[in-house]
Amino acid sequence: MIKLEDIKKSFQINREDFTVLKGINLEIHSGEFIGILGRSGSGKSTLLNLIGFLDSRFEGVYEFDGKSTRQYSDNELSRIRNKNVGFVFQNFSLIEEMNVKQNVELPLMYAGLSSKQADEEARNSLKQVGLEEFLGQSVKVLSGGQRQRVAIARAIVNQPRFVIADEPTGALDSKTSYEIMELFKELNQKGVTIILVTHDESLTSYCNRVMHLLDGEFS
Ligand code: ADP
Ligand code: MG
Repeated sequence: MIKLEDIKKSFQINREDFTVLKGINLEIHSGEFIGILGRSGSGKSTLLNLIGFLDSRFEGVYEFDGKSTRQYSDNELSRIRNKNVGFVFQNFSLIEEMNVKQNVELPLMYAGLSSKQADEEARNSLKQVGLEEFLGQSVKVLSGGQRQRVAIARAIVNQPRFVIADEPTGALDSKTSYEIMELFKELNQKGVTIILVTHDESLTSYCNRVMHLLDGEFS
C-alpha cells in the first residue's frame, strides 16, 4: 500500500538546511500494525506528515497503491487523504465547543454526506470505541481516555484504509494508555492498518513490526 524510497526532508533554519529525514526506506502493507519508535526530535512527526499526505515537499519517492504521489495535484492529494487516512494525535485535537457526535461527524460534513447519513456513521463509529452513550455530551467534561476515544471514532468514521497515530497515549496514564492500545488492536483486527509513532517502548508489544528511528534514519 505504502512504499517510501530514499525519502529525505530538510527544513531551512536561518538560511541553513537542517536535514530531518536522511534517506528513509519503508514499505507498509495493508493490515499491518506498525510501530515507529524513536526519541523526541528523531523525525517521527515529520515522517508521519509525509505518509499522511500532509507534506509533499520531500526528496525521494512515495508510492501509494503503486503510484508515485508526485503525479497528483494538491486537490487530488487532499481527496486521497480524506478517503484513506485517519489521524489521531497526542492532544486529541477535539473542538471544545462541539459535542461528541458533532466532533465525530466533522470529516463526514467535509465529505458532503447528508446529516442523516452522517448521524448513522457517527453512531456506528462511537459504538466501536464504546462511547455510544456519550453522543450528546460536551467533550469538555470527558476524561483524557474518553477524549482519545472520541478522536479515534472521528479518525475511523469514514472508514479509512490506515490510521496514523502520533504519540496517541502521550497525555494518558499507563492504564488508560493500554486501553487505547487495545482499541487500536481491535481496529487492526477489523482490517484497519495502524501506523503508530511513540517513544514508549512498552507499547510496541501491540505492533506486528517495529522500526527504530534515530536522528532521521532507521537503525
Ligand atoms: P519527533 O516527532 O520525533 O519528536 P519531529 O519530526 O517533530 O520529531 O522533528 C524533528 C526535527 O525537525 C526537530 O529537530 C524539529 O525541531 C525539526 N522540525 C520539525 N518541524 C519543523 C519545521 N516546520 N521547521 C523547522 N524545523 C522543524
Ligand atoms: Mg512528534
